[in-house]
Amino acid sequence: MKLRANQYLCDLPVYQPGRPIEEVARELGLDASRIIKLASNENPHGPSPRAIEVMKNVVPGVHRYPDGTSFHLRKAVARKHGLDPEQIVFGNGSNELIELVGHAFLKPGDEMIISQYAFAIYEIVGRLFQAKIVEVPAKNYGHDFERMLDAVGPSTRVMFVANPNNPTGTVSSAERLQELILAVPEHVLLVVDEAYQDFLEKPLDSAALIRPGQKKPGRDNLLILRTFSKAHGLAGLRIGYGLARPPVAAALERVRQPFNANAVAQAAAEAALNDNAHIRKTFILNAEGRARLEEGLHRLGFDFVPSFGNFVLLNVGGGQAVFDCLLRRGVIVRPMGGYKLPGFIRVSVGTAAENERFIAELSKLNPPSMQKKKNT
Ligand SMILES: *Cc1c(COP(=O)(O)O)cnc(C)c1O
Repeated sequence: MKLRANQYLCDLPVYQPGRPIEEVARELGLDASRIIKLASNENPHGPSPRAIEVMKNVVPGVHRYPDGTSFHLRKAVARKHGLDPEQIVFGNGSNELIELVGHAFLKPGDEMIISQYAFAIYEIVGRLFQAKIVEVPAKNYGHDFERMLDAVGPSTRVMFVANPNNPTGTVSSAERLQELILAVPEHVLLVVDEAYQDFLEKPLDSAALIRPGQKKPGRDNLLILRTFSKAHGLAGLRIGYGLARPPVAAALERVRQPFNANAVAQAAAEAALNDNAHIRKTFILNAEGRARLEEGLHRLGFDFVPSFGNFVLLNVGGGQAVFDCLLRRGVIVRPMGGYKLPGFIRVSVGTAAENERFIAELSKLNPPSMQKKKNT
C-alpha cells in the first residue's frame, strides 16, 4: 500500500474500553437483560433526574448548532468553584481535555511524567504527540509524589496526577496533594484529574489555588479536570471541564473544536452540576456498595487494593481468564493486562443486586490460572 499513516502510530497503545452490554449479548448469544456491566465506573443509579427533565426540553432544538461558548454552563461552573468564566474549558468528556493538553503543551521529545498504573489515556495522548513518557514507579499502587517531583527536569512539560487514581482506587490526602501542587516547578503543567472527586469524604478544594483574589500563592501551572461521567451519571453525553488560570485556559480554548460540547450535554450538565440530592445519594450508595464488595472479596480470600473511588482493583491470579469466565456468565468487568497488571481485574461498584451477583459469580469460578489466596 502506498498510503501510510504516521509511523509512530504503529506502536501507539490502543485504549480498551469496557465492553458494551449489547455487544456482549450479540457475541455470546446471551439475553441482554441478564447481563450486568461493572466495567466503566459509570453511575449505576442513572443520570441526575434533573438532567433527564431538561434534556426533554432541549431535544426539539438540536437542528441548531450548540452555543460554542457554553454560556450558561460556564456561568454555573464558575459560580460553583468561585472562578471567573474565562478560567473554564469544556471538553467532549474530560478525555478530550487530556488531548487538548497535548495539542497546547507537548512537542516531540518533550517529557511527560506519569505514575505507574496511571489512567491509560495519559500515556496514549503523550505518545500521540511524540512526547517522552517518564513513568515513575508506584508506591503501594498509588502515586509516589517525591519520586515524581524528582523526575522533573528541564524538558518536562506536563505531569499527570489522578486523585483518586483509576484503576487502583488509591488517593493522596488533601494535604499531600496541596504540597505537590505547590512544589511542582512553574515550567511544568500539573494536571490534577479529579474524575472521582465526588466519592471522597473530604476532598481538597484545589480550585482555591487558582481562584482570583485568594491569598495563598496562586498556581499558574495547575489544570484541574472534572467530569460529568461518574457521580453525575452522564457518561453517554460526553462532557467534562478543565479549570485553570486564564493563560492556560486560553491555550486550551484555542485548540478545541468550536462545538466540542453538544447542546444536550450542556443543558444536562448544568442541571446535574448542583443536583446535590443525586450526588449525595450516589456517594452514600457507593460507599455502602464498595464496603459490601470489599467484604465479599475479603470473605472469598482475594487480595484487593482498598478503594476511594467507585470501583475496586483485585488480584485474581489471571485477569484475562477470570474476565472471560465472568463474561460468559453475563458479568462484564475490566481485565487489567493493558495496565501491566495481568493478574488483576477492576470491578465497578454497581447497585446492591449487581454487587451481590458479582460476588456470587466470582465465588463459583475456578479457572486453573486463578490462585485464590487461602482465607485465614
Ligand atoms: C472516567 C475517567 C475520566 C472521565 O472521562 P470522561 O471523558 O469525562 O468520560 C477522566 N479521568 C479518569 C482517570 C477517569 O477514570
